[in-house]
Amino acid sequence: MMYKTHIITGLAAGAGIAATQASGSFAFTVTYAAGITLGSLLPDLDQPKSFVGQRSLGLAKIISKLFGHRGFTHSLMAWCIVTAICLLFTSNFTIGISLGYLFHIVGDFFSVSSVPLFKPFSNFRPRNMWFSYKNESLAEESIKYIAILIFIYFFIVHELYKPFSFSIITNLKDVFGMIVNVISAYFL
Ligand SMILES: [Zn+2]
Repeated sequence: MMYKTHIITGLAAGAGIAATQASGSFAFTVTYAAGITLGSLLPDLDQPKSFVGQRSLGLAKIISKLFGHRGFTHSLMAWCIVTAICLLFTSNFTIGISLGYLFHIVGDFFSVSSVPLFKPFSNFRPRNMWFSYKNESLAEESIKYIAILIFIYFFIVHELYKPFSFSIITNLKDVFGMIVNVISAYFL
C-alpha cells in the first residue's frame, strides 16, 4: 500500500472510531489526526525508499538491516510495543499514533504479499481468503477513493469538523499563550 492510501485509510478508520466513541481520548482533534498520520507511516520505517524512510535521517537503513522489509515492524508484537510506549504518555496524539500503526498493519495485511502478523514467533503470513489487492493497482486506487468518501461522511454527517476546528483554535491559543509567556519572561 502506498503512503497516501495508508494515511487516508488510517484517517477514515480513525474518524469512524471518533464518531462512535463518546470518550474524549478519541475526539477527532488536530493532534489525534496528526497522530494517526504519523502512526500510519511508521511501520514502513523498515524501507529506506519509502516516503517516511527517505525522511528518517538514516534510521530506516538501520531498521531495514535489523528487521528486513515488511518484517517485524508489520507484526502485532511491534504494534503492542508501540502502543505500550504510547500509553506511557497517553494523549490524543499518542492514541492516534497507536491507531494509525494498527491500521497500517491491517492495510498491508489485505495486500497479496500480506504481513508476518505473528513475528517473532512465526514467519507465517496469513492471507485473507475473500479479498486481497496488489500494490499500486486499480484495487488500491479504489480503496483510496472509498476511504476518502468514508472520511467525508464521518467528518460532515457525524460533525467531526466541530471538535477538529475547536482544537485548531485551542492549539493556536496555547501557542499564542506560550509566545506571550516567553516574551514577558525575557523582555518585560
Ligand atoms: Zn507497510
